[in-house]
Amino acid sequence: MKNYKIAVLAGDGIGPEITKEAIKVLKVIEERNDVSFELNDGLFGACAYFDSGDAFPQRTKDICDNADAILKGPIGLSHEESKNIPVDKRPERGALLPMRRRYNTYANFRPVFLPKALAHFSPLKAEIIGEGIDLIIVRELVGGLYFGKKETGVNDDGLRYVKETLEYDEGQIRQILIQAFKLACNRKKVLHNIHKSNVLKSSVLWNEILEEVAKDYPQVKVINILVDAAATLLCLKPTQFDVMVMENMFGDILSDQGGGILGSLGLMPSACIGDEKAYYEPSHGSAPDIAGKNIANPYSMIGSVAMMLENSFDMAAEAKNIWVAMQSVFGDGFSTADLSKPGTDVKMIGTDEFGDKVVEKLRAMPIV
Ligand code: NAD
Repeated sequence: MKNYKIAVLAGDGIGPEITKEAIKVLKVIEERNDVSFELNDGLFGACAYFDSGDAFPQRTKDICDNADAILKGPIGLSHEESKNIPVDKRPERGALLPMRRRYNTYANFRPVFLPKALAHFSPLKAEIIGEGIDLIIVRELVGGLYFGKKETGVNDDGLRYVKETLEYDEGQIRQILIQAFKLACNRKKVLHNIHKSNVLKSSVLWNEILEEVAKDYPQVKVINILVDAAATLLCLKPTQFDVMVMENMFGDILSDQGGGILGSLGLMPSACIGDEKAYYEPSHGSAPDIAGKNIANPYSMIGSVAMMLENSFDMAAEAKNIWVAMQSVFGDGFSTADLSKPGTDVKMIGTDEFGDKVVEKLRAMPIV
């Protein structure tokens, strides 16, 4: 029997609710397979700060260091509540970015998927969805503006100023591009390179490296698009995209737009992969506006479990079964509140009922 240690960081806001459903699914995978998961809970984010004054405390670091994979819920507080924590100790600066840096999880994969049968979830017209949306955003996760030097002060004119640096070296750019090319090879062999080279020098270097890396993948067709145009095209013709690669901040923003074209951020799981360690998290935040109401969509968190099984534990068949189980709950006409808007035929169920239905579907599926 294989034994895996998983660090479970439920996080803030809706984090604990959707993590609970993800764990239910993980338990079924354990029942069905010759595998055992040792789950070790750690505080991470605002909950950790309020507990110990540190959003990423040493105990949680130890749990993560010793884990084979990390399952992380969303973290953060509402805009107003954030003010209760000093700026540099807030969840993103105090926990999320340090975790990404600690494990050098440079490659963030964010699938944006909606089959034709669920086109009614999307705010886009059915003819735009066509045969369905199925693309992956590959986001560089440990460089760029989010990790560059920051400076604030008062300038010579007596005005407060801020300076943030967008920094990449060619090694950082090359490693994420290689991941994107590899993924494109396994999919449709088309790679959309999203950049801003008409303005940013960082994009000029990015594109230079891309041309070098592309020589090793002649079977992949590269299409270059400026990030602003890409934002429009994601709405007008999302089906033209398959693998999209981009730097950190572009990926942060465009992937939320990905959730928008699907109909909910609750449909956005992700995998954050480094050479030594990986962690899995929904792309969205802690959704304080709906926390504690049992209405959050746990798809993003359960999907993150599926990505963990495939990437960290070599369990691709069971990962696929999880996706199929979730899609068939939707196929039966059920969803959480985010996707069951008035005027649609979708039957609204709670976060926990969605998890229960996924479990039921999964139990009924043959083990390949
Ligand atoms: P958000 O992503 O939390 O929420 C945006 C909107 O999407 C809200 O209306 C919310 O209700 C909805 N939503 C998000 N996930 C959902 C789900 N699973 N089911 C149904 N609806 C869902 O963005 P925000 O409100 O701007 O940020 C809240 C906090 O989350 C902030 O503190 C922010 O910094 C943090 N944040 C954390 C992460 C992370 O942990 N990786 C990512 C983004 C934002």
